Amino acid sequence: MYPLELQKLIELFKKLPGVGNKTAERYALLVLEMEEAEVEEFAEGLLDAKRKITECEICGNYTNGKHCDICLDAQRDESVICVVSSARDILAIEKLNSFQGRYHVLGGLISTVNNVMPNDLNIDKLLLRLNDEVKELILAFSPTLEGETTALYLSKKVDESVVISHLAQGLPMGGQLEYADEMTLLRSFENRKKV
Ligand SMILES: [Zn+2]
Repeated sequence: MYPLELQKLIELFKKLPGVGNKTAERYALLVLEMEEAEVEEFAEGLLDAKRKITECEICGNYTNGKHCDICLDAQRDESVICVVSSARDILAIEKLNSFQGRYHVLGGLISTVNNVMPNDLNIDKLLLRLNDEVKELILAFSPTLEGETTALYLSKKVDESVVISHLAQGLPMGGQLEYADEMTLLRSFENRKKV
């Protein structure tokens, strides 16, 4: 059996998604082989990110200030807001280098099974953002029951002057947006359908 501290490190690595016993063991042993300065940098990096990264006050994206880079970027189109369930989805869409509008993070999707109601989500803030300049909302949700329910709810809440569009079919049913391959995501973005 491993010494207590090593065993604990292995358990910590196992908290990461997709990391099982073997991989956790490999990571932990790798840490032991690293220079102490390198391990310190690693530990400080974790803490620093955790302490300094918060949610953008406007859109909910990750930021180290009040507002995220996308909200601060005057070049981006204010007339289109892409609505996503989590800030991770923004990273996936930004990688496509195709969308030039703004974002809004809901912080989840409506789910009766998991007892997530509209009030639990960042919906009020989104509705407040819908001024005359906003012409289109792109609902970029995973094609799940929760995604459909949330889209339906939003389409009833949003004024008719704002066009609502959905990502086109082609995304894996029930799959997570962030795991879709880039081509599929790009195609479903460009072929989005008006509701
Ligand atoms: Zn923002």
